[in-house]
Amino acid sequence: MTCPKCSTGNPEVAFFCHRCGSSLKGSASGRAGTYAVQSSEGVNQFALISTIMPHTNRETADNYRWAMIVSAVLIVAATAFGLLPVAVAAAAFLIPLAYLVYIYDVNLWEDAPAPVVIGLFFVTGGLSVLVSLVFYRWVFDDQFASFGPGSARGGIESLSIPALLIFAVLLPVVAELVKNLPGALLARMPQFDDMIDGLTFGVAAGTAYAAFETLVVFSSIFTDGEFRTENGLATWMVVIVNLMVVKSLVYGTATGIAVAAFSGKGEGYDGFTAYYVKNLAFAMGANVLYWLGVRFAAYLPYGQALGLIWGFVVLAVLVIRIRVMLQAALLEAAIEDAAKEGHSKRDTFVETFCPECENMLLVGAQFCIACGSSVRSTSHQARRHMHPAEAVPQASETTEGGVA
Ligand SMILES: [Zn+2]
Ligand SMILES: [Zn+2]
Repeated sequence: MTCPKCSTGNPEVAFFCHRCGSSLKGSASGRAGTYAVQSSEGVNQFALISTIMPHTNRETADNYRWAMIVSAVLIVAATAFGLLPVAVAAAAFLIPLAYLVYIYDVNLWEDAPAPVVIGLFFVTGGLSVLVSLVFYRWVFDDQFASFGPGSARGGIESLSIPALLIFAVLLPVVAELVKNLPGALLARMPQFDDMIDGLTFGVAAGTAYAAFETLVVFSSIFTDGEFRTENGLATWMVVIVNLMVVKSLVYGTATGIAVAAFSGKGEGYDGFTAYYVKNLAFAMGANVLYWLGVRFAAYLPYGQALGLIWGFVVLAVLVIRIRVMLQAALLEAAIEDAAKEGHSKRDTFVETFCPECENMLLVGAQFCIACGSSVRSTSHQARRHMHPAEAVPQASETTEGGVA
């Protein structure tokens, strides 16, 4: 069967073109919303793990899902018992640490994983502490105090406009630039030229920034000597979930979008293009909207809860944006590669197996012909199995009937 999009020959049983990922069965146009990173999901689906951790497959994603759920239960339990220092520390570092484990686990940076990961984490963390100290302590501490406890009792009229502009507009814009810096520097390196690599650096930098910002803003929890608190725990619960956990994901996904755009879809990095500027502005806008919503909501009845709902809305928009962006990038880059003569370094070398559905991958494939998953989203571990020495022996067994 010849692919209508890129004219590559495919086996009759193929559901997806192995070169460009186009759907070959059913509605001929497009892929009917099958996500190229995780083919069992739709593109417009709010699925957090496969979005921020694209190198996981269905099985390993479950481990991270459980780790997240267990950590969330621990944080909520620690808050319920009034153990705020424990809850805040866990809430601040839960997501960045899980992310570092993920990066290490999928062996994303084979040459120097530990120094790169730890370097990115602490460089971003150091910058975050500096920016947070300037805004929250050294320069705008008076304005920040206007958001303090009891301030909302005066009604929405008592909201300080200069404080709102500083902390919900200026700070998110400055912070987004700072979060982009370490990620973009890494995305320039030749071994990390994929858009998925850029996304990963961005998420890592964004979540690390969030963690250290939380430490600075809530440092009194650790320094006032009270290990156990009894008052206002319901409010603390919502604050901890929104201003630490959801915030971390909002920062991570927003910066992921910007750095992914910096990296671009093809080989090498695109750098300072209009596409990057547009996505950087989108990331800044998402941060500004998140903080405007949270600060405004605090002056309304049930403000903390409203702020939490708002946080999830902003996060959902960011997650869908990443998925649409990666979908377009993976498919477009594959069509460009398919048009070129010979093999791209992005193809599989030999017959091997799809880590998502365990059907056979053809030689020179960028997509699984059975489930349509992109080979680019598999982990380096899985990709190493695509090397001749390990993959060839069993390949012929599954050739027949494997797809049906
Ligand atoms: Zn094709
Ligand atoms: Zn597959």
